[in-house]
Amino acid sequence: MQSLLGDEFEIFLDSYRQPPALGLRVNPLKISIEEFLKISPFPLTPVPWCPTGFVIQTSEFYTPGKHPYHAAGLYYIQEPSAMIVAELLNPQPGERVLDLAAAPGGKTTHLAALMQGKGLLIANEIRLKRVWGLVSNIERWGARNVAIVNESPSRLAQVLEGFFDKVLLDAPCSGEGMFRKDKTARLEWSPEMIQSCAIRQAAILNDAARLVRPGGILVYSTCTFAPEENEGVIAQFLDQHPSFEVVPPPPLSHISPGRPKWLGKTLPPSLIESLRKTIRLWPHRAAGEGHFAAILRRAETGERRTLRPAPPLKPSPQAKALFQEFCLNNLKDEPEINLAQLGNRLYHVPAQLPYLPTVRVINPGLYLGDLKKNRFEPSHALAMSLTSSQARWLVDVDYNMAVRYLRGETLQQNGEDGWVLITIDGFPLGWGKRTRGTIKNFYPKALRWP
Ligand code: SAM
Repeated sequence: MQSLLGDEFEIFLDSYRQPPALGLRVNPLKISIEEFLKISPFPLTPVPWCPTGFVIQTSEFYTPGKHPYHAAGLYYIQEPSAMIVAELLNPQPGERVLDLAAAPGGKTTHLAALMQGKGLLIANEIRLKRVWGLVSNIERWGARNVAIVNESPSRLAQVLEGFFDKVLLDAPCSGEGMFRKDKTARLEWSPEMIQSCAIRQAAILNDAARLVRPGGILVYSTCTFAPEENEGVIAQFLDQHPSFEVVPPPPLSHISPGRPKWLGKTLPPSLIESLRKTIRLWPHRAAGEGHFAAILRRAETGERRTLRPAPPLKPSPQAKALFQEFCLNNLKDEPEINLAQLGNRLYHVPAQLPYLPTVRVINPGLYLGDLKKNRFEPSHALAMSLTSSQARWLVDVDYNMAVRYLRGETLQQNGEDGWVLITIDGFPLGWGKRTRGTIKNFYPKALRWP
């Protein structure tokens, strides 16, 4: 970095003497920014490149990940530079969007928010072990249009070639932008790792490109500074994919252009110009750990793919009746649901989901709940996708009672027997089931606070 950054190196190095920047992104699917700022437990300052993003000034009283508002999905904890990526992809409601390397879901939740729950968002994670964290983060976010799959990019490219309006590849990288906050990233780093990451990134980016429709957008990003994994990967990609061009970023403050010179080669002027349109964020220039991103557009030529929609995973008449009975007893109106049944599970499936018989689908959409003997048991995901005005039976709790609920304790409050939605300040935390004033706790065991 010293030889690359020259005069800038000292201030870059100095940034490593500061603590990592802590950020949160507000969930506009649940609360407006104005409302959140009124109730935020932490002092916040805006992130210049993300209207829903804020830097958290440390709070003496609360840890951001251990506040009931976090459990209610009002915000996602994300370091500020990472918040630029979804803004650059800029997905629109109704589009078909793929997050190709999605776990733990920071960018997926951001994409879902920008899509306002409309259209199709497929979140893919190749490592099954990392999928479960992704599932739980998406559930807490309350998004209704996300399908989760566990596949290799090459398999997805075979099945869904040319299908997506927008694709994000937030690539696995050598993680130099994690050094301040993650000791493992510091210990795992090596010069060889940069080389192996660059080879892997080029291969995944190749698959990512196949998934974009003509005229569609692909964003490539990493959280590392190594030019081999950034400008180098894009230079090679442009050489091999003449149908793609780099699109200049929108005018945002605090962003710096890519550094073609760092590749140490003589490059044609057109390539230098393209690489200068890529984006770098630096820890010494703005609040955040640093990021690289490139916006790539595929030329309009070529055919758009339309794929067969998923055959309706038609619910059995009994399943349908049990779900309707649940809605009638517990919800004010039956939500707009495209009901599907897989075994004992019921889902709401986004209408644009194609037929994916050869893909490992973890969740084809919003998991609604399970069919038990003669009844329907609602899922935590359903609770998190509702607003308090949709539920018939609410128990609104204060901070202390919310903590008890999140720890898995039984609550006491008189009222009608049956399912109740536990809320804090009107925001759902999960289900409880009341019998004669005692509310059995249905907050998932795996999520309970110690
Ligand atoms: N986008 C995520 C977020 O914002 O929360 C972070 C993604 S992380 C930088 C990169 C992801 O790529 C990891 O979850 C990792 O498991 C996955 N990955 C590793 N090797 C991969 C491969 N060959 N193809 C696709 N994804 C891979």
